[in-house]
Amino acid sequence: MTTARIAVLPEIRAPRERPFQIQTREIPPLVEGAVLVKNLMAGVCGTDVHILHGKVPVRLPAVLGHENAGRVEAIGGDAPIKDITGKTLQIGDTVTWLPKSCMRCYNCTILNDQSKCTNRVGYGGWVVPADQHPYFVGGFAEVSWVLPGSDFVVIPPEVSLEGVVLGDALRIMVHALDCLGGLEYGDTVVVQGAGPVGMMGMILAKDAGAGKVILIGGPAGRLALAREFGAYATLDIAEMTAAERIAAVMDMTDGRGADVVFECAGVPAAVPEGLEMARINGSCLIAGHYGDAGTVPINPHVINKKQISIKGVWSASNKHFLRGLTLLGRIPVEKLVTHRFTLDQINDALIAAERQEVLKAVIVP
Ligand SMILES: [Zn+2]
Ligand SMILES: [Zn+2]
Repeated sequence: MTTARIAVLPEIRAPRERPFQIQTREIPPLVEGAVLVKNLMAGVCGTDVHILHGKVPVRLPAVLGHENAGRVEAIGGDAPIKDITGKTLQIGDTVTWLPKSCMRCYNCTILNDQSKCTNRVGYGGWVVPADQHPYFVGGFAEVSWVLPGSDFVVIPPEVSLEGVVLGDALRIMVHALDCLGGLEYGDTVVVQGAGPVGMMGMILAKDAGAGKVILIGGPAGRLALAREFGAYATLDIAEMTAAERIAAVMDMTDGRGADVVFECAGVPAAVPEGLEMARINGSCLIAGHYGDAGTVPINPHVINKKQISIKGVWSASNKHFLRGLTLLGRIPVEKLVTHRFTLDQINDALIAAERQEVLKAVIVP
């Protein structure tokens, strides 16, 4: 293979303007330590939609696609390349490659928090622009040219490609559980938001010992899927007011409120609503506001009176992805990938994702 196709985003434009252009490019020869990966599947993420609305900056022209699963095609040089657990990469391995933290900045070394690395670079918009070597730096292309020193993970055989792609959403919620110090067995957890992060949060909470998980969101098809995956109850935002949703949560918790609330909706109003749903000494984890969706009034009295802990959680460290793999190998998460698109259909995929016609869309180049 000497050339490959790539979906380039020349400038920031909304999905309905069909901003991606498919181009054919020469694949640059590998240098020592670089890896050529055949892209097998790339997730279309809410972040990609935010990017097309200018809410998350990327390096233009960009090649997006940061939730990637691929097969190792070629390795540059003779030296063995290890993944983040120390496994040696072999040709034919199924792999993903995670955002790279520098492990030298204050946040990496003193705060011990890779997710807040000030020099973090992620494939799918942030490594180099698509018109600079090595060009193939995102999943929305037939191949990826992965730079020397990248953080690979060899994917175990029990984890599907869909699982790898959903691992991006799951790792955020593994990070959330890490911040919380885990759940107490039998906790009631409210999850706000029925997108991939909310769904993975719901599945993870159950797996981590929650007694009841109440998922709030829509549309109805997603909620049905959530019940199939074990949600104790689902509350449809199209059918209930905020006051009704709060009353329903109180009803299901004997008037006490939820032990833990995961905000995965990305809607500012979900935060004060979640505070009303939390019990005395309960916790609210804010995980859905990766893009800046604006402000909302909050009554501090509620936080004070109920002694609520509020914590934000941003992306994740490598360890959160790795730990999430253990769940992805046991749960049939493939069903959460509801739509598949070819590389040529990239604009359609982003339009569908923006309209929330899909739970999770993937590109199969
Ligand atoms: Zn993502
Ligand atoms: Zn750093």
